[in-house]
This record gives sequence, structure tokens and C-alpha cells, in this order.
Amino acid sequence: MANGKLIIISAPSGCGKSTIIGEIIKNADLKLEFSISATTRAPRRGEIDGVNYYFMSTSDFEDAIRNDELVEYEEVYAGYYYGTLKKEISRIQEAGKNVILDIDVKGGVNVKKKYGPDALSIFIKPPTIDTLRHRLLSRGTDSIEAINQRVDKAAYELTFADKFDRIVVNDILKDAISEVENIITDFIKD
Ligand code: ADP
Ligand code: 5GP
Repeated sequence: MANGKLIIISAPSGCGKSTIIGEIIKNADLKLEFSISATTRAPRRGEIDGVNYYFMSTSDFEDAIRNDELVEYEEVYAGYYYGTLKKEISRIQEAGKNVILDIDVKGGVNVKKKYGPDALSIFIKPPTIDTLRHRLLSRGTDSIEAINQRVDKAAYELTFADKFDRIVVNDILKDAISEVENIITDFIKD
């Protein structure tokens, strides 16, 4: 097969990106491999370097920026960089797989611009902002301050939805998963 395609999944934090990606990646027909991002934030409990993220110091990340090693990067939260390494995309494509990216909404728009028809961008929306807050609270991975920061930011990020190829509302999880799988199946078939 030619170079694998890119599937971008973006959404405000807590909308269900990781949950949805965790499920669709099990579908072997989609030939997906997760693009592990680089970040300068600290690992959460249970996160492993080289599995969830490539955890980097700020100075190493800034070296990577200077050396043009990133497809895109954003300071997603004040003081914390997140970015997609060029060598990560080529590693996956060279293995004959399609690349799935879990990146913030600005990064999603930038990657789509760079890759054009070779990329499909999907925006995951929560049914309401209130539902989003409840999901972040029950996920239990972030402090109340971090949750408030994420929910405030979500209202702004939702305004990016119409810049994406497709929008999927994550209300009933299994329906959202099927919808995303169908959209990807259709995209990778040609
Ligand atoms: P993201 O990766 O976008 O930050 P997560 O996948 O971590 O979001 O989801 C946030 C929380 O919401 C998790 O605890 C997850 O189990 C839960 N969740 C995801 N989708 C749904 C859904 N459709 N209904 C109820 N809870 C959900
Ligand atoms: P978290 O800290 O919850 O893992 O991720 C916070 C946000 O950073 C999420 O919205 C996630 O999609 C985004 N993110 C993760 N990796 C990247 C990346 O490589 N580039 C960009 N622009 N955003 C990323």
C-alpha cells in the first residue's frame, strides 16, 4: 500500500477521544497505529514514557522545535508543550499502517492543512458542556482547578468544530465508536 493515511481526532479534554481511540484501534481492518506525541507535562499515574507520550524536558522540546523535528506543536496548557514528531509519523507509515492522532483542536486544524486529502479530521463533541464537566470529574485524573481550566477552554475549542471534516457527538459511547469506525472505513478505502 502507498503511505498510510492520517486520521486526526480532536476535541476538548474529556470529550472521549482516548476512550474512542482505545476501542477503534482494536479493529484490525482499519490498520491504525497511535501516534505517540511528545510532551513536557509530567506523566500521570500509570502513564509510561514511549507508550502514552514521549515525556521530554522543556529544553529538549525546544531543541526539537529549533531542529524542525515536529510536524506541529502547541502550548496546549500554559507552560506545557505537546507536539507530533515527524519521525513518529514516518515510523508508522513505513510500517504500512494508518496513523491515528489524538491532538488538540489547533494542532488538528494544522495537521489537516499540511496533509490535505491524505488526512481526515474528526471533531468529537460532548452532548453539553455540563456533561463534559461530569465526565472529567468522574475520570478522577485532574484537580478541580485543572478541570475548571479545561471546561473554560472547552467552550472556546468548540468554536473550531466546523473547521473539521467531520463532527461526531459522543453521547452514547458505542454509537460514537461505530460512527467513527464507519467514517474511517470510508476514508481509507480509496
Ligand atoms: P479525552 O481523551 O477526550 O480527554 P476520555 O476518553 O478520557 O477523554 O473521556 C473522559 C471521561 O469520560 C472518561 O472517564 C471516560 O470513561 C468517560 N466517557 C467517555 N465517553 C463517554 C460516554 N459516551 N458516556 C459516558 N462517559 C464517557
Ligand atoms: P492530556 O494532558 O490530557 O494528555 O492532553 C491534553 C491535550 O493535549 C489533549 O487535548 C490532547 O489531544 C492534546 N495533545 C496531545 N498530544 C498532542 C500533540 O502532539 N499536539 C497537539 N497540538 N496537541 C496534543
